[in-house]
Order: sequence, then structure tokens, then C-alpha cells
Amino acid sequence: MTVLVTGGAGFIGSHLVDALVARGEEVLVVDDLSSGSQRNLNPRAEFEMIDIRSEQAARLIRERGPRAICHLAAQVSVSRSVREPLLDADVNVAGTLNLVVAAAEVGCRFVFASTGGAIYGAAKRIPTPEDEPAWPVSPYGIGKLAAEHYLHGFREQAGLSYAALRYANVYGPRQDPHGEAGVVAIFSRALIDGRTPTIHGPGTDTRDYVFVGDIVAANLAALESDRAGHYNIGSGVQTDVNTLLERIAAALGVEARAEHGPPRAGDVRASALDAGLAERELGWRPLVTLEEGLRETAEWFKG
Ligand code: NAD
Repeated sequence: MTVLVTGGAGFIGSHLVDALVARGEEVLVVDDLSSGSQRNLNPRAEFEMIDIRSEQAARLIRERGPRAICHLAAQVSVSRSVREPLLDADVNVAGTLNLVVAAAEVGCRFVFASTGGAIYGAAKRIPTPEDEPAWPVSPYGIGKLAAEHYLHGFREQAGLSYAALRYANVYGPRQDPHGEAGVVAIFSRALIDGRTPTIHGPGTDTRDYVFVGDIVAANLAALESDRAGHYNIGSGVQTDVNTLLERIAAALGVEARAEHGPPRAGDVRASALDAGLAERELGWRPLVTLEEGLRETAEWFKG
């Protein structure tokens, strides 16, 4: 039976599709190519160029009755969500709900790509566990949390089987270096091109970086599990921006250089996720160290 991957032409979704295809799964990709690329599409997966908000997307689920949906398609930019909150809610809340309603009807497992950083904001406890109060401030974080609430509601009312995976900062091959997020991709591209990357503020802010291969493994674990819930997916390790830049430069074999600009409004000072619940309930934990992940990412960017 088919696994449907929305956003399967994007950075994370395409790696997940590759892993599913390699396991011999029948994979159906739904993507409107708004930020994803045809280049990322696995030729052994079926592809439908459809918007997740459309009636066509819901009909596809009803007609094909996949055994599971991994939902990664999204408006992914936090700053765009601030500029265009209605668009963000349309894609990330209404679009997700469109799929959730159809998934509940056909009774398939639903694995949702949520976010840790944007949901918890300036958390009191770091690494942050799932029971930290979640009061997101960006429309992106609010939309992702709203989608999680819909999943919970559909489980209670219609028996939907789901897992919401709250990713930390994901990095790896195929990440778009032209966005405003994805600092590993942005720094890698700049250093390879001989440009000097800009660090916003003194570079002491910390984030939790998790390799895309580990995110794929978390999706596979959630797909095969019947546990319902909301799971942090991160390393629990804080890495500051200055250290990250040095490590990226070392992986690329170039000199580490950066200029410091003013800090960005709204950036939290520190963030890392406690993924203990995912380890206990899904049997998942990150396996790729930052050094290994950056080495693999560097090879891809150099290639
Ligand atoms: P991406 O932009 O590479 O992938 C998103 C994909 O969704 C793209 O292929 C895009 O074309 C597709 N898409 C967007 N709107 C669509 C629509 N209306 N209909 C159909 N397809 C549509 O981004 P990514 O980094 O691979 O993110 C994948 C998921 O992971 C997203 O849900 C994102 O919110 C979540 N996430 C990512 C990170 C990260 O660090 N990259 C962190 C937390 C959560």
C-alpha cells in the first residue's frame, strides 16, 4: 500500500521519499513545487503536482486510500508568516486540515512535520521537553500548533492515528541556501563562493542542529508506530553560531570568516529540544553527530 508524502520535492521530504523508495515502498508525492524542485523528485516515486489546499488533494487521498501520509508540505518561512499571516494559515492550517479530514475518512496514519523552535519560543527549560507551555508568537509557530490541535481533536473524535514531530533546526544536503533560514546551507554556500557570511549579533545564540538523515529516521519510526502524540525531534545539544561557522568551515576545508551585523528582532537566545519521549515511545534517537553531518553536507555543497 502507498505512503503519500506531501512536500516530497522539498529538502526534507525528498530525503524521506528516497528512504521509503529504498525500502521498497510505493510512494506518492504531492507537491506544488512552490519552494521544492523537480530535481529533488525520486524518479521511482509517483508525482502529482497538486496544492494541498485543493479539493483534488483531498480526492486523491479518498481515492487512493494510502496506508499513511507524511505531511511535510508547508509555507516554511517564519518571516513570510509575519508579513503574510493569512497565506501562512491558509497553507499550514487550512491546507493541513484539508488532508486531515480526508485521512480520518480513509483511516490512515498521519505523520506531521511540526516545529520545536517556533512553538516553544523563549523556553524556560533547555533542553525543552514537550510539556513546556507552548505560546508561539510567529504566525508560523501558531499555525503549526493549531494543526497539532486539529490532529488531537480528530484522534479523539474520529480515531485518527497520528504523530506530530517537532523538529529542531534541520540541516543537510539539498537545503536551500537562498532562504532566510537554514543557516548551515547559507554559511556553506557563502564560504564556498568566497563571500563573507553575516552573523546577526555576537554569534552566541544557540540552536539544536539535527541532521536530515535523523529526521528521515524519525519519520520512519513514527510511520511504523501506532503511538499518538507530539514528539520533539532534536539532538538536545546547543551549538552557538560562532562555533557552527568554525565547524562548517573546517568541514569545507576553508578559512572561517564572518562579519557581525545587528541582532535580529525576535530571535531567541538559546534553544534545544529534549527528545527523550521520542526515544521511549518511538525508539528514535539521533545517530549522526554534528561533525559527521556537516562533513556530509559539505561534500554535497562542494559537489
Ligand atoms: P521545503 O521548502 O524544502 O519543503 C516544503 C515543500 O512543500 C516544498 O517542496 C514545496 O514546494 C511544498 N509546498 C509548499 N506549499 C505547498 C502547497 N500549498 N501544496 C503542495 N506543496 C506545497 O522545506 P523543508 O525544510 O523541507 O520543510 C519540510 C517540513 O518540515 C515543513 O513542514 C517545515 O515546516 C518543517 N520543518 C522544517 C524545519 C527545518 O529546519 N528545515 C524545522 C522544523 C520544521
